[in-house]
Amino acid sequence: MVFPEAKIALCMCSEGKRPFGVRFEEYENEWKATWAFAIKKKGSAEREKYDKTTLKGKIRWDDDYPGCPYCGSRGFVICCDCGGLNCNLHSNDETFTCGWCGASGELSDYEGGGFNAGGDR
Ligand SMILES: [Zn+2]
Ligand SMILES: [Zn+2]
Repeated sequence: MVFPEAKIALCMCSEGKRPFGVRFEEYENEWKATWAFAIKKKGSAEREKYDKTTLKGKIRWDDDYPGCPYCGSRGFVICCDCGGLNCNLHSNDETFTCGWCGASGELSDYEGGGFNAGGDR
């Protein structure tokens, strides 16, 4: 039995600027979000731990993916500047502000260019 490769990406919730971890499993150039968990402290240690690699490919969602532990959103916005993952709360708003680097811009569809993640440990 072969298990898919799994990575953890840190996502920033724009509600209260709190980070959470998202577990992704790799399936043929797609990354499937399977789990999300709250991270208590916001600090550089977590950031460094999960920030080592860039995942490239499409994002999709497991049926059981629970969504953001803070706001419940199942959507992601990837920052074009830093590759940071953010909650997609602004379905009626054309702009977003990145919770990682503070860059703001127009919402655009994610094209599979990559986002920050690290190993599952
Ligand atoms: Zn959220
Ligand atoms: Zn950013």
